[in-house]
Amino acid sequence: MTNKINLNFWVWIFSIILFSSCNMKLKEESAQTRTKDERVLTLLDKMSIEEKVGQMTQVTLGMLMKDGSTTQVDENKLKEAIAENMVGSILNVAGHALSVEQWHDILTKIQDISLQETPNSIPVLYGIDAIHGANYTLGSTLFPHNIGMAATRNIDLVKEAAKITAKEVRASGIRWNFDPTMGVGRQPLWSRFEETYGEDVYVTTSMSEAAIVSYEEDGLENITAVAACMKHYLGYSFPQTGKDRTPAYIPEVMLREIFLPPFAAASGAGVSTVMINSGEINGMPVHGSSYYLQDILRDELNFEGLAVSDWEDIKRLHLRHHIAATPKEAVKIAVNAGVDMSMVPMDYSFRNLLIELVNEGAVSEERIDEAVYRILKLKFDLGLFNNPYPEKEAVKNFGKDAYKQVALNAARESITLLKNNNNLLPLSKNSKILLAGPAAHDITALHSSWSYVWQGNDRKYYPESTLSIKEAFINKIGEENVICNAALQFNDQVNYNTGFIRANAGKADYIVLALGERAYAESPGGIHDLALDKNQIELAEAASATGKPVILLLVEGRPRVISGIEPKTDAILMLYRPGSQGANATADILFGDYNPSGKLPFTYPRESGDVLMYDHKNSETFNEIIVDNYEQNGFNPQWPFGFGLSYTSFEYSELKLNKAVFTTDEAIEVSVKLTNSGKVKGKEAIELYTTDLYASVSPSVKRLKRFQKVELGPGESNTFKFELTSNDLSFINTSGQRVVEKGAFKLSIGDQTIEFNIGEDNL
Ligand code: BGC
Repeated sequence: MTNKINLNFWVWIFSIILFSSCNMKLKEESAQTRTKDERVLTLLDKMSIEEKVGQMTQVTLGMLMKDGSTTQVDENKLKEAIAENMVGSILNVAGHALSVEQWHDILTKIQDISLQETPNSIPVLYGIDAIHGANYTLGSTLFPHNIGMAATRNIDLVKEAAKITAKEVRASGIRWNFDPTMGVGRQPLWSRFEETYGEDVYVTTSMSEAAIVSYEEDGLENITAVAACMKHYLGYSFPQTGKDRTPAYIPEVMLREIFLPPFAAASGAGVSTVMINSGEINGMPVHGSSYYLQDILRDELNFEGLAVSDWEDIKRLHLRHHIAATPKEAVKIAVNAGVDMSMVPMDYSFRNLLIELVNEGAVSEERIDEAVYRILKLKFDLGLFNNPYPEKEAVKNFGKDAYKQVALNAARESITLLKNNNNLLPLSKNSKILLAGPAAHDITALHSSWSYVWQGNDRKYYPESTLSIKEAFINKIGEENVICNAALQFNDQVNYNTGFIRANAGKADYIVLALGERAYAESPGGIHDLALDKNQIELAEAASATGKPVILLLVEGRPRVISGIEPKTDAILMLYRPGSQGANATADILFGDYNPSGKLPFTYPRESGDVLMYDHKNSETFNEIIVDNYEQNGFNPQWPFGFGLSYTSFEYSELKLNKAVFTTDEAIEVSVKLTNSGKVKGKEAIELYTTDLYASVSPSVKRLKRFQKVELGPGESNTFKFELTSNDLSFINTSGQRVVEKGAFKLSIGDQTIEFNIGEDNL
């Protein structure tokens, strides 16, 4: 397959060269009027192997700083990287976010050397992780992590957040963003669950595609765009053990049904780059697999962009996966499999080994040219050859006040009301609150991974304007109404003092507990148990024992099991990782200035050992009590996917289809009436599910196929329309093909259901 790709590629390139060389007129045209592709080919032609292989090398900023400094680059080290080793790309921060000015200073020094001291003056491509906002630039606005964005069920918010991220990243002088994360989150133990859009394929696909379009749609040369990176291709989000970067075992049917569709949609949308999954699927590390990197990614998905490795992952083919006996073999395997750029990231070994491999004929020059073509093409597309320096006019797009409003809207729409006994919420602003728990005064838990530092846990880099929940409560209801002794750090023992709760409950009308998870990113966030930590359970027990109404705020990146304490609480709000405006949004909801509308993007398990997705198979819920005596009650989550309460009530009615029987090429038109039957204005995420009643591969009990966030005033009704195609009813059969089978289907929205058939007749 590799050979086939290379052959096609070179036939195509050869035709372009032939065409250009025969066409003298074209040759005489100025560089400006020539097409980018020709400029890439012309440049490629002039480059030595050393220079080409340098372009395929990406190193981290940390190795280029003055000793002991996290803000000052060392010009000698820069020269070693760019002039001597000719590296094509640099990434990351040296420990923490930098100001726009510091970024400009660093990037200017980098580009000065790339232009002045390399044989062909090829600018460096800088890449960064801007995962929920421009999180590596000081003063940027941070949005909820994807898990919260998914709860908004609001595609427009995803687009707005991505656009602001693009503007703030570009204002920092950086043009390549390693985002979005597109692994479908079906392993809640996994420490990167908060970076996912949750367990559903459709939510993940539509939201990640929206983010990519928003990043890139203005044209990569424009100061409002960045190159996006679909990651981590493929299967990273489903480690069997739940530990980061450990193996996944994914049958082909499941791979294509669940994990591939987001990447297929993003490739179809023309995403510029892809980052490879650090893990392995069925024993095959993805970095070494031409099946995943060529056959599927290039041949099937027709992805044309640049494929970058993840952190140190080529070396790890040798060090961790043991599929390569030496580091050199690892380079050979990865480059031949289809990795175009290696995030090495802390030395020049990749470059040196690859030069040796090319000289020995173990990696072909054609393969190198293919990779370098993609890298240079992206550099041209991003306008780096016109102006590689930070664009001064982009700075006006940094730090606008309006961004805070978008972050507030996103946090408000993400927060999910999971319980509200006797309509306890919203609380009156005259209430006296006893606020406790480790997340009550810790801003870092509201942000978590990729927030000014990798782990998100260093509050000194956060903007001064960032409020904790305690501070937002005080702003909302006054200092005299908030009793709280919570510390700034999540793990401070003060936060776990049950005595404080017992001693002060008598002075309060309500106890609000902010529980959940500290800030973490990647492997350091690993856990062995979904159960919420014991010292937090004890806080809830103590609060409940006082007899006061208890309200839980869950600040967490994944569902931590709380079945033991849930019955002892009166109301529960799920905050996820709500970002810069998370505390304000929480206060708005708790005290009635905003009506919550978030819906769970995952199934919230009741027990650690009972994790079942909403789209499970029918047979997964059967319990055999004794022989021939069954119950189908095996699905018993704490809260189901899609769950989320409001301060108003919504009623669905009049679910209709335009027909009862459809052929496979007919559109299915659906309409439903929604009424706000309560007393306040509210937003509702309408969700449309389908069920294939019988199919040759056991169908899921239901699958989400459309959603739309709408707003209705009290007493207001409206009819909403959706259109499905038979593709929405398709599934992957045992031969790995996507098919639609004739037969009966069920469609449901809210409590309304309707059946229809695909086929010529009623079947
Ligand atoms: C992560 C990637 C990230 C890269 C660069 C890796 O550890 O897995 O998501 O883009 O680091 O920071």
